[in-house]
This record gives sequence, structure tokens and C-alpha cells, in this order.
Amino acid sequence: MKAIQLLAHGVPGRFRLAEIPDPQPASDEVQLQVRACGLNHLDLWLEKGELPIKLQLPRTPGSEIAGEIIALGADVDEWRVGDRVAVQSNLFCGRCEFCVAGEESLCLEGKLLGIERDGGFAERVVVPARSLVKLPQKVDFVTAAALTLAGSTAMHMLMNRVEVHSGHWVLVSAAASGVGSAAVQIALKLGAYVIATGSTEAKRALALQLGAQYAVDSSNPNWPAEVRKITAKRGVDLVVEHVGGQIIEQCFNCLARGGTIVTCGATAGREITLHLWPFFVKQQRLVGSYGRNRQDLMNTLAWAESGRLRAVVDSVSPLDQTPDAFARLRGRSVLGKIVVQP
Ligand SMILES: [Zn+2]
Repeated sequence: MKAIQLLAHGVPGRFRLAEIPDPQPASDEVQLQVRACGLNHLDLWLEKGELPIKLQLPRTPGSEIAGEIIALGADVDEWRVGDRVAVQSNLFCGRCEFCVAGEESLCLEGKLLGIERDGGFAERVVVPARSLVKLPQKVDFVTAAALTLAGSTAMHMLMNRVEVHSGHWVLVSAAASGVGSAAVQIALKLGAYVIATGSTEAKRALALQLGAQYAVDSSNPNWPAEVRKITAKRGVDLVVEHVGGQIIEQCFNCLARGGTIVTCGATAGREITLHLWPFFVKQQRLVGSYGRNRQDLMNTLAWAESGRLRAVVDSVSPLDQTPDAFARLRGRSVLGKIVVQP
């Protein structure tokens, strides 16, 4: 089969389109024909080698997979050849105390698909059967691949890690990203007023088109003042954050008393300074969110089927153009998701 392989870390674009043997499923795994696979910032971290995980090369990236089952391991009896599925990319053991409680995002033996084992930028991939979720009939492969990781990350943040109340102010960082575009839609459906940030006119226009009431220019260093103005100096109840660095520090200046910041990423920096005095005086919360549970992925796909959540797809590329897709994501001009169709 054809597969994209990453050959080196730290130098952008060291990929090859390789011809390699089909991966074979172990007894508890299935082999999928990959129909679509979304590109994520996680893939850029893999490319850079900037993950606190032991990495091996060559590696086929691609964590956000939708496909069709073409072969079953000997012990797999709950799935059939031909089933249309999405894959929960935070692979989990299914046995630890957290998995048993349905909190696979906390799994003690969690592994990242496309990072710690080969992923979906290939014609075929092998994944554990327990990581599969059935695709609803009305959800096509490209939509599934655009929402399976990014959309379900936002779903986990807003439905599992924090509570969004009707009438609350929610600020969504980098709203034109995969996670951001889903978070805007979910927060609106939960009855919140949404302020989006975006660094370009096109990104802000997308956020408004998704229904955000306001879009603030995050390239203006004084953007938190704009958020305070919109909320009549009160600040927002919730910030959905995935940028990190200076941006999350500035988000505290936008946060109301009793407010919460929920964060699932740190593309702009992993270390921040937190001023504890205003933090505890204003009784604020900083909440971590990682990956998703099976239930979050099922909710995401159900929302997609009912039309409550739409995938924002920047572009669809064939497999051999995956390296160009990486270059465009690095260039930060992408609106929504890039999806690769092998
Ligand atoms: Zn586990």
C-alpha cells in the first residue's frame, strides 16, 4: 500500500510517499481502508519532534481517521467487514480504572494514533477494535475526518470538563481552527453568547459566519480590552483556549469573577506566568482537557448527523500532496480543517 512516512524531526517537510506492506491486524484489531484523514496541529508537533513522548521513525502520521473495515482480527466479533467507522485517536487500554469508568481520556496506558503507532495518511491502517465508533448514515467520510479529533476535543471540553450555561459569555480562542470552529458552534447551541478571536479578516469572518456574535482581532496586542468592552467590563464566564503562551495569559484579563478557562493545547507556548492574587480573589478556575472519551466522539458524530455541528473544511488533498498540506498548516492561513483522502 501507499503511505506517507515522516523520515526526520526538526526539519520541515521530510516526508516520502512509500510503498510498504499492508499492516495486519492483531486479534483485537481491525484493518481499515482509510477514506479520509484530518490534519491537526498534533501532526506538526510530531514533524518537529516536539512532544514529550518517545518518538520512532519512520512514522506514518494521521490521527483523525474515518474509513471502512476491510479485515477483522480473530477475536473481534462486534464489527463487520464493510462497517463505516471513525477512530478515537487517543488509544486506550479499556481495562484501567479510568477506562472502566468511561474516562478513556485519562487512560493510564493511553497512546496516540499517528504518533506512537502508524496513522491514517496511508491507504490502510490497523487500529484496536475498541477505538472504533460507528459513523451515522448521514455523516460522510470527509465530515467525519474533520470532526473526529478536533470536533470531539471541543465536545469534551464543553460537555465534559466544564458546564456552559444559557446566557453565558464564552470566548473562543483561534476560532477558525478545527477545535475553535467546533467550539463556537457547540457553545452557541448550548445558549451562550460567543466572542471569537481570529488573527486575520478571513478567520474572523468565518467565526461570524458560524454564528459568533463578536469577532476580535487577536493580532492587536490590546485585544483583551476589546473583550472587556463588549462585555461592559464584566469579562466572560468561560474561555475555550488551545493556543497557550501569551494568549492564555491575556485570557485571564478577559475573565469574569467566578469564570473558567478550559485549555486543551499550547501551540504558542507551554509555560505561562499565573498571577495568583487576582486568580484566587476572583475565584477563577483553570481546567485542563485532553483528548476525548468515546461518549464525546459519539456525541460529536450525532451532532453532525442532526446538523447541529458542521465540519469546516478548508480543503481536501490526495495522499501524495500530504507534505503540501503540512506546509499550509504550518503557514497558519488555514480556515477550518485540511483533510487528506488516500
Ligand atoms: Zn485505560
